[in-house]
Amino acid sequence: MAKKNFLLRELPSVDELLRSPLLKEAAKGYSASFIADAARAVIDEARAGIISGGGEKTGGELAGLVIKKIEEMIDGGIKRVVNATGTILHTNLGRALLSERAVKKVIEAGSFYTNLEFDLEEGARGGRDNFAALLLKGLTGSEDASIVNNNAAAVLLALNTLAEGKEVLISRGELIEIGGSFRLPDIIKKSGCLLKEVGTTNRTHPEDYSDAITENTALILKAHRSNFDLSGFVREVSLKELAAIGDAHKIPVVEDLGSGALVDLSKWGLPREPVVGDRLKTGAACVTFSGDKLLGGPQAGLIAGKKEIIGRIRKNPLKRALRCDKLTLTALEETLKLYLTPANRLAEDLPLLKMMTRDIKDIEKEASRAADILRASLGEDFSVAVQAATSVIGGGSLPGHNLPTRAVAVTHKKLSPEEIFSQFLKKEPPVIGRIKNDKFLLDMRTVKRAEDLLIDSGPPANKTPHGIR
Ligand SMILES: *Cc1c(COP(=O)(O)O)cnc(C)c1O
Repeated sequence: MAKKNFLLRELPSVDELLRSPLLKEAAKGYSASFIADAARAVIDEARAGIISGGGEKTGGELAGLVIKKIEEMIDGGIKRVVNATGTILHTNLGRALLSERAVKKVIEAGSFYTNLEFDLEEGARGGRDNFAALLLKGLTGSEDASIVNNNAAAVLLALNTLAEGKEVLISRGELIEIGGSFRLPDIIKKSGCLLKEVGTTNRTHPEDYSDAITENTALILKAHRSNFDLSGFVREVSLKELAAIGDAHKIPVVEDLGSGALVDLSKWGLPREPVVGDRLKTGAACVTFSGDKLLGGPQAGLIAGKKEIIGRIRKNPLKRALRCDKLTLTALEETLKLYLTPANRLAEDLPLLKMMTRDIKDIEKEASRAADILRASLGEDFSVAVQAATSVIGGGSLPGHNLPTRAVAVTHKKLSPEEIFSQFLKKEPPVIGRIKNDKFLLDMRTVKRAEDLLIDSGPPANKTPHGIR
C-alpha cells in the first residue's frame, strides 16, 4: 500500500510530462491542447495501472506512450474495415459500397470546382439536384423528383410540406421503428403533423381509413415494414385500395418505401421488393426511399412523385436545410446512371447487386483459400474450418430473406468466440466477423478475396476495393 502511494505520488503532472524534451521534439506541430489531452490520458492510464498492481513507468516511457497516444488519436475516425459479417447493407459499417465509377467521380467533384448549381447551357444559376431528378424521372416514370440527405429527412420533408398542422392517417401495423432511432410516430410529430392511428396492430381494413377521415385530414401515409414480417391473422390495406380512398376524398397517399428498388430484383432470383415506378403507377402521390439501401448508392433520401407535390417540397425552406452536398449528389448521379445500362452490366458494376448475386462457387473458393491463409498465419491453438452459413441483406431490406454462403469458422483451445472476435478487431484493417452458435465466423460473401483477411498485412497496395483485383 505504502509502495503504491509512493508510486502514485511519483507520477509526473501533465505539465511536467509535457516539458520532457523527447515529447517536445516528437509532438512539434500539434496543438498544445491535443498533446495535453494525450498526456492526461497516459497519466490516467499509468495511475490505473499502479492502483491495479502494475509497475511504475519511467518518464521516458510515459513520453513514448504519449507519442503513441497522439498517433492513435490521429489514426482514429472513419477508416476501412473488412466486413466479414455477411450482412451486405450493414448500417454500422456504412451500408452500400459505391461503384468504381461513382468513386472516381466523387474524387473529381471533391478536387475541382463543379457545375453543382450552375446551368452550363444557360450560363446562369441552376438547381443542384436537377440532373439526379432527371435520371430518377427516367428510371421511375415519376413526374418529378427531389433529393435530401436520407430517407428519414425525405419522410419529414414530405409530411411537413403536405400536412403541417393537419392529420396524417397511418395503420397501427405500420408505426415502425428502424434501427438508429428512426421511429415513425416521432417523425410524424416532429414534422408538425397530427398522428392519427387507424386499425389494429395485426389488422387494418379500408373502412378504418375512410371512417377516420375528417376535414382536417391531409395525408394517408403507408410505410414499408422493412425489418420485420407480420404473419398469421393479418389484414393490410393495399396501396391500390388506399389510392382509391385517397382519390375519393382528395387526399394524397404518400408511401415510405424504405429500400425502394429501382428494378425488379426477382430478375436475379431475389425476392420481389416494391419497385418505385410500380408504386407510383399503383397510385402513390409520392414515395420516399433511401439512396444507400437497395439502390446501392450514397446515403440520400429520394422523393419521387407528382409534379405539383415535388414543386411544393422544393419550395419548403426545410428542403434547404436538408439538401445534399456535392459529393453525395455526384455519387448518386453516377449510381443512377448504372441503372441505364443492361441488367448484366448492373450486376457486375453495382457492388451491392454483385454481392447479392455472388455465385456460391466463388464464395466457396475464397472461403477455402481464406481457411488456408488463416491456418498458416494463426497460432496452432486455433482451428479453422469452412462451413455453410447464411448471409442477410440487412439495412431493413428483404427481411427474412437469407442467402446461402460459406463462412470460415475460427475456434481456439482456450479463447472464447468473443475473445477471438476482439482479436480480429485489432487487425489492420480491422476484420469484423460474427458469432453464431458460440462460434466465431468470417462470412466470405462480403469479403472480396481471401487476402483481405490477411492479418496485420499493413496497408494494402491499393486502399480502394476496386482496381486491386
Ligand atoms: C431505412 C428506413 C428509413 C430510414 O432511412 P434512412 O435513409 O436510413 O434515413 C425510413 N423508413 C423505412 C421504411 C426504412 O426502411
